[in-house]
Amino acid sequence: MTAKISAAIVGLSVMLPCAAQDGRRLDPTETEVWAAEPRGVVPGASAGAPSDAIVLFDGKDLREWGPAASPANPADWVVAGGVFSVRPRSGDIQTRRLFTDYQLHLEWRVPASLSGSGQARGNSGLFLASTGVDSGYELQILDCAGNKTYANGQAASIYKQHIPLVNACAAAGEWQTYDVIWTAPRFSADGALVSPAYVTALHNGVLVQNHVALRGESVYAGKPSYRRHGPAPIKLQDHGDAVSFRNIWVRPL
Ligand code: MG
Repeated sequence: MTAKISAAIVGLSVMLPCAAQDGRRLDPTETEVWAAEPRGVVPGASAGAPSDAIVLFDGKDLREWGPAASPANPADWVVAGGVFSVRPRSGDIQTRRLFTDYQLHLEWRVPASLSGSGQARGNSGLFLASTGVDSGYELQILDCAGNKTYANGQAASIYKQHIPLVNACAAAGEWQTYDVIWTAPRFSADGALVSPAYVTALHNGVLVQNHVALRGESVYAGKPSYRRHGPAPIKLQDHGDAVSFRNIWVRPL
């Protein structure tokens, strides 16, 4: 806000009548919050990581990742040219760190040359919290430029739960971005769901999921349900296609 506009607003607030319903004159300073000043964060260049982000892939190696089936081992997906790619049929990989609520940025690219169709065309997935091998909450990654599939399984869907608001896909072979706000579910000590998971997601800068509540973990068949869990890894899916990734960072909230 410029000083000029700010001064104008300050002047306006002085001029406005501040009468309460009970006739008491309201003091606008009573509702000003000064104690909690948001800390400064330096935005990254273009889609680069902000100053307080945890970088999960910086173009060099997969030290932040391990196989979902054996997390202590090194992840053996293919790293080359500043990006990494699924090594088909080697299995999913997941972060070594555990997260609860966070903001995430991730860039993905399906191969320019694809032979399959529907779910067999550039399929991967961003599991916002992994609860074990082949389980968790999946934001779908899939070629979606002219590739017909069920709407709640296309790219940017919360798999089998929430259809994206729009199709913001780029062509196969082009880099695409996901920016996600993840609010983890909360459970009571006896495992009962206290509050569901929420997802807000932007695909290529376009809002595709607007604070949607999840009904449970993503499942291929049947109805989703919750199982109690705490802080969890973020997981990337090996669905047999050589999908690539770059510039991944996360800000725990
Ligand atoms: Mg998938």
